[in-house]
Amino acid sequence: MVRLVARASFPKSVLVAVGQVVVYAEFCRIMELPGTERRSVRASKEITVSRTGKAASAENAPHTHQIRHLGSAASQSGKTAARRPFSWRMGPASSHHLVSVPRVPHCPHFTWVFAMKRYSIGSLIREGLRGHTGWEQAWRQVETPKASYDAVIIGGGGHGTATAYYLAKEHGMRNIAVVEKGWIGGGNAGRNTTIIRSNYLNDASAAIYQHAMDLWTTLGRELNYNIMMSHRGVLNLAHDDGEARALKRRVEANRLNGIDAAWLDAKEVQEFCPIVNIDPDIRYPVLGGTLQKVGGVNRHDAVVWGYARAASALGVDIIQNCEVTDIRTEAGAVVGIETTRGSIRTPKVASVAAGHSSVIAKMVDVKLPIESHPLQALVSEPIKPLNPCVVMSNAVHVYCSQSDKGELVIGAGIDPQISYTQRGGFDVIEHQLAALIELFPIVSRLRMLRQWGGIVDVCPDASALITKTKVKGFYVNGGWGTGGWKATPGSGHVFADLVANDEPNEIAAPFALDRFYSGKLVAEHGAAAVAH
Ligand SMILES: Cc1cc2nc3c(=O)[nH]c(=O)nc-3n(C[C@H](O)[C@H](O)[C@H](O)COP(=O)(O)OP(=O)(O)OC[C@H]3O[C@@H](n4cnc5c(N)ncnc54)[C@H](O)[C@@H]3O)c2cc1C
Repeated sequence: MVRLVARASFPKSVLVAVGQVVVYAEFCRIMELPGTERRSVRASKEITVSRTGKAASAENAPHTHQIRHLGSAASQSGKTAARRPFSWRMGPASSHHLVSVPRVPHCPHFTWVFAMKRYSIGSLIREGLRGHTGWEQAWRQVETPKASYDAVIIGGGGHGTATAYYLAKEHGMRNIAVVEKGWIGGGNAGRNTTIIRSNYLNDASAAIYQHAMDLWTTLGRELNYNIMMSHRGVLNLAHDDGEARALKRRVEANRLNGIDAAWLDAKEVQEFCPIVNIDPDIRYPVLGGTLQKVGGVNRHDAVVWGYARAASALGVDIIQNCEVTDIRTEAGAVVGIETTRGSIRTPKVASVAAGHSSVIAKMVDVKLPIESHPLQALVSEPIKPLNPCVVMSNAVHVYCSQSDKGELVIGAGIDPQISYTQRGGFDVIEHQLAALIELFPIVSRLRMLRQWGGIVDVCPDASALITKTKVKGFYVNGGWGTGGWKATPGSGHVFADLVANDEPNEIAAPFALDRFYSGKLVAEHGAAAVAH
């Protein structure tokens, strides 16, 4: 009967479209897409970081109430009040020594310079009805660069496309370009294992990674792109008393910064992740671990494509297959770049080239304290859901999550040699698989499907560089080492601010190059842990 009615009253395409909507709605529900997106457990909470290094959560600073322009913070250092466009919370006058980490408000609407279709259930139905023939290219293909831009971003990874998007959206810089030597997202962005967390030790790191975490939580909706954000929780295991002490200390430091962190004993670890082997007689018994529930994973390509699409809609030129071969300067200031697609005039060059940061900086005789190393990862054959979270262990040195396709995604640390090859040694894989089986004996007969490598740029203090340089108009964002993915939106956001205003804001300031002269390092080797 149903079939008869269906056949009589609806064309097949309508039924197909309705079916697609139902599947999509269910997919949204499972993936927590825009509309059903879960907010960070602490997204609404204010964290305050003191300039003196002390930190307090909103509970400790209950009078935090004034919302005003960042100018208030900037004016303390003599900057004009209207300099920065995002809102910034300050404590009351009596506690004005406390500078709050900015909470970026959710901003779903921005001016589309180029008409781009919004992805929605409506557009899915429309496209379903006409056989999916009307989808546009996600971003404009720009084959020939313009003769000049107000700024050029070198590197079309996550950080580069994010920088372009925030420059256009928040600073009104629309005559800009992202120049990528390969295809966008083909560097570390497309090779990383996407672990996201913000439980770093130092206040400066906590501020930038939590800033990123807040942005991740609403990014899918803001970009109108499904980034498959999954806040499934990140466990860091401890295997000896020293490690347990260090991790517990980090939990306390995180809590003081208002960051979601908890210590679990071995039994609680197993309750959260049943496949972890907590047998006390193994070589490295699990004594417990930290849990950041809001941590998780997302989809790397989608993040880059989402940023590129939104930036392109705002007028940014995304130029692929265009390698920067030189940077031209005159009287100590940037005036342009040379590329494999011709010369471009520009007063600002922002390098976001991950493994090649020092190669780009050398073009203007800037020496960076960076080493480039291969970092590899691998995935298993797909299996049914087995690992519900991300598990990391520094002592046995492996980490593991499970992708939506069912593959176990497995990684460890960098290869020790300096190299620009996107592949690593077999000994690292052998070691990390031995560690994996030790932690999860249940996977001992699993076959591995594929392996790959990227090039990461590592700073001596395991923290990033977000910095101006001695060359006017040349800015560097790099040195994120093995853990830069999680910072992507926060890094792009504060770097855009630096490039637009030629001054770092409070979040970016500790990551300037001069820390290697002043000695004010942001030492994060402990919290950077097993890669990430
Ligand atoms: C195997 C692996 C696993 C990882 N796992 C994680 C993880 O789980 N969590 C986490 O937080 N981080 C992780 N990372 C680190 C993370 O991927 C990086 O820190 C981050 O992606 C760097 O961001 P990016 O956008 O600057 O880099 P990239 O995506 O590498 O972008 C830089 C771009 O610059 C381009 N470029 C270079 N030179 C030039 C030139 N001369 N002209 C034009 N373009 C140029 C490159 O082609 C590249 O596309 C991992 C990295 C690897 C390799």
